[in-house]
Amino acid sequence: MSYRGRLAPSPTGSLHLGHARTFLVAWLRARIAGGALVLRIEDLDPPRVLPGAAARIVEDLRWLGLDWDEGPDVGGPYGPYVQSERSDRYAWALRRLDELGLLYPCTCTRREVQRVSSAPHEDDEEAAPRYPGTCRSRPIREDRPASLRFRDGDFIVRRADGLWAYQLAVAVDDGTMQITEVVRGADLLPCTPWQVALLRALELPVPRYLHVPLVRGPDGRRLSKRHGAVAIASMRQAGVPPQRVIGRLAASLGVVPEGSELSPRELLSASGIERLDELVARAAPGVQ
Ligand code: GLU
Repeated sequence: MSYRGRLAPSPTGSLHLGHARTFLVAWLRARIAGGALVLRIEDLDPPRVLPGAAARIVEDLRWLGLDWDEGPDVGGPYGPYVQSERSDRYAWALRRLDELGLLYPCTCTRREVQRVSSAPHEDDEEAAPRYPGTCRSRPIREDRPASLRFRDGDFIVRRADGLWAYQLAVAVDDGTMQITEVVRGADLLPCTPWQVALLRALELPVPRYLHVPLVRGPDGRRLSKRHGAVAIASMRQAGVPPQRVIGRLAASLGVVPEGSELSPRELLSASGIERLDELVARAAPGVQ
């Protein structure tokens, strides 16, 4: 099967150096393999989605010199490429899992439910503690809305407020979009076995996973606004050339020497680029 990769930004904030490094790796892997790259907008959690953020992320990615072969703006055979338009697929998956007897309702509090249903980003209040399976074998409380959990791993696939959980949507999308390799931040590593379990249960193809180490600030914490001008849009507004940003990211991966300025396309001829997956595993946490 030919390579299919994806860029899966959540429009909940602005693109910074950390995201850009992961997206650069995803782009390079697809281009090195001569495969296809999909842009998928993960706007699954309406309260957290910022108006206009998806368009700004697309603009930032294009400014950096990244492109894709399928996506909301270019179309393609596996659309729609926006999660809020894919509810019918998630509903199909939920029905299937239910028929297989793999789900159980849970009436633990909303707060607990929300903590375990979002992508567990490090340094984030929503980091997912392991659910002890409290509701697995007890009668559910009729006075509270129930979420649905997957028996193998006890994670939420549909939230009590009716929203689709990140785990379900991502697994269904990667499977149905025939993704062969997922390149994403190492913060999502703990979710990978859950997503593989869902893909297997749904008899969808399981991709290979490459987790890119998170970019950290000088204080060792995951890169964020507190580290100053790390947003790609701020660099663009300050007149920094995109080649410099790409050079910094590529240098942090050990692909080019520090101080290099080049486009993603030019990076494809950097020596050793075909071993990018090995370089990624050893990537430095800081971007100079
Ligand atoms: N949309 C998720 C995020 O931005 C990434 C999901 C994934 O790559 O699996 O955190």
